[in-house]
Amino acid sequence: MTSSENQCFYCQAEMVSNISYHAHFLSQGEHVEKQLCKDCYRDWLDGMKE
Ligand SMILES: [Zn+2]
Repeated sequence: MTSSENQCFYCQAEMVSNISYHAHFLSQGEHVEKQLCKDCYRDWLDGMKE
């Protein structure tokens, strides 16, 4: 993983360093945490509610 730590995992948007959201995913059986921008984080939360 070589992408910037300050980019959204979904949309690659640059994020202000002091505003970050973290979502948890299962990737190949491993629990991983990804940074998301506000919009993508809200989408992710909506998906988790189901
Ligand atoms: Zn995003």
